[in-house]
Amino acid sequence: MQDYAPPIDDYRFLLKEVLGFDAAMSELGQEVDADLAVTVLEEAGKLCAERLHPINREGDEHGSRLEGGEVSTPPGFADAYREFVTAGWPGLAGDPAYGGQGLPFLLQLWLDEMLSAANLSFGLFPGLTRGAAEAIAAHGDEALKAAYLPKLVSGEWTGAMALTESGAGTDLALLKTRAQPDSEGRYAVTGQKIFISSGDHDMADNIVHLVLARLPDAPAGVKGISLFLVPKFLPDGARNAMSVGALEKKMGIHAQPTCVMNYDGACGWLVGEPHRGLAAMFTMMNAERLMVGIQGLGIAGAAYQQAAAYAKDRLQGRSADGVRGPVAIIEHADVRRMLLNIRTFVEAGRALAGWTALQLDRAHRHADAAERAKADALVALLTPVVKAAFTDFGFESAVQAQQVFGGHGYIREWGVEQYVRDARIAQIYEGTNGVQAMDLVGRKLPMGGGSVVEGFFALVAADLDVGGDIVVALKTREALALLRDATTALQGAGVDEAGAAAVDYLRLFALVSFGWMWTRMAAVEGDTPLHRSKRELADYYALRVLPQAHGLAAQIAAGAAPVMAMEAEGF
Ligand SMILES: Cc1cc2nc3c(=O)[nH]c(=O)nc-3n(C[C@H](O)[C@H](O)[C@H](O)COP(=O)(O)OP(=O)(O)OC[C@H]3O[C@@H](n4cnc5c(N)ncnc54)[C@H](O)[C@@H]3O)c2cc1C
Repeated sequence: MQDYAPPIDDYRFLLKEVLGFDAAMSELGQEVDADLAVTVLEEAGKLCAERLHPINREGDEHGSRLEGGEVSTPPGFADAYREFVTAGWPGLAGDPAYGGQGLPFLLQLWLDEMLSAANLSFGLFPGLTRGAAEAIAAHGDEALKAAYLPKLVSGEWTGAMALTESGAGTDLALLKTRAQPDSEGRYAVTGQKIFISSGDHDMADNIVHLVLARLPDAPAGVKGISLFLVPKFLPDGARNAMSVGALEKKMGIHAQPTCVMNYDGACGWLVGEPHRGLAAMFTMMNAERLMVGIQGLGIAGAAYQQAAAYAKDRLQGRSADGVRGPVAIIEHADVRRMLLNIRTFVEAGRALAGWTALQLDRAHRHADAAERAKADALVALLTPVVKAAFTDFGFESAVQAQQVFGGHGYIREWGVEQYVRDARIAQIYEGTNGVQAMDLVGRKLPMGGGSVVEGFFALVAADLDVGGDIVVALKTREALALLRDATTALQGAGVDEAGAAAVDYLRLFALVSFGWMWTRMAAVEGDTPLHRSKRELADYYALRVLPQAHGLAAQIAAGAAPVMAMEAEGF
């Protein structure tokens, strides 16, 4: 297997020549500039390449294990995590009030890309911890914040989120875990949760679970769910009444301990208002959704590097004119096609992730409340797109990288099959991609009476105008027109119409967004190999990927009838 090479040149290009990072930061009153950002990313990249990538394969082979009720992570994980914490990476974008470094979220997101590329199982630990810290910061009382945030922001303690039960997955209204108040303002939490990532492990001194449960007087349905902080170790050092029933045996991310958790009257504290737990948990889930999208991007980038190196090395077949042979498979058009499909997703995805992260920074730090609200709405619109499209393209990319290896991609020796297995979960957890698509159509398109999505389209159209008549600008304009028509058709559509169209609509939305980013990248003047490759890739994207927009628009226009016609018994 090739070493992992962090994409620092691309980050530098995006920061300095595409995203206007320095101007964005000075508008937000931040002192960080692109040079400092690149230095931070270089350091993070070294850790990912030199410490986390080398233990990825053994982590997969060995897996996390449950013995005598205790979970141990694979060799090297606990040591690497200690180094990660000592170097201060968990608090990179964390709140300085609790020991964080307060750097832009953009850096955090690209750190997440490198973590996911190097070692997806490892990256989940700090990712969930950050989500837990954000939920406590937004909804916890001062005592909880003081007791838990410094250790979570530093990464000394890790976080877990416990929503899912065997009978309650997508539909959390069905959850049964109970919380009984005591006379001292605490709660005894009882129930079983399944599929809990980082639920238990040997990497940190404490694990802080955020658990959804019902109070005794709770109304039925989602309006009766509350959020509780349930730590593995209580403030007096005693072990809480919670245990790991089993580790899930699963397709990928073997190093990541996915736990069945039993809470047997475990001591917890209410986070936020009673019965308002789902709203509080959404703070965590929205942060996680962006991160999960980035997991797809990270895996695709890593798989691309392996496949491109292999394609330049592997000799098979003759040149197209039949004269030379055997030639490296990179000469074959079909192999190039697969590599270009991956690369055009990865580089546009990286740019779109960067743009979205900058909006998140504006939403948190802009001096003007109206600007904060505008940016927040754009992040809300883009979140399901990043989560679902990046993980769908991420998985498809891993499969195409595996295909480049032929049979050698299917056996374990080359390591590329691990990417396929690891990437698959990101399409499922944090709300399945089908559910993300319905969130986009059902909740995000109607925001502001349609003004948010229309504002986004106007922004894209303005940049496409700047792109003039370069081919990717022309083709993206056509695709944007299709997307606008589909958006109009779906505004106020019935449940089945929206449900039947949602996944295709989200993909169309993503294709246009990538075309927008390719236009911005291809429009940058310059004659370095990087600038030239951007223009070549933009042409490929415009002519070979973006035409899918027409098929998707036709599928959306076909409506729900062909989807709903067959009776359930007919399946
Ligand atoms: C490895 C792993 C790690 C996980 N980590 C965590 C974790 O840390 N914390 C946690 O709480 N959970 C976690 N999960 C759970 C995960 O979030 C759920 O599995 C996921 O949300 C789907 O729930 P479900 O499995 O019950 O599927 P279901 O809800 O039964 O869904 C089955 C299918 O039906 C579709 N569907 C369901 N409802 C609707 C609807 N209303 N409209 C249209 N389609 C619908 C879904 O899209 C899906 O295709 C993890 C799962 C795995 C496998």
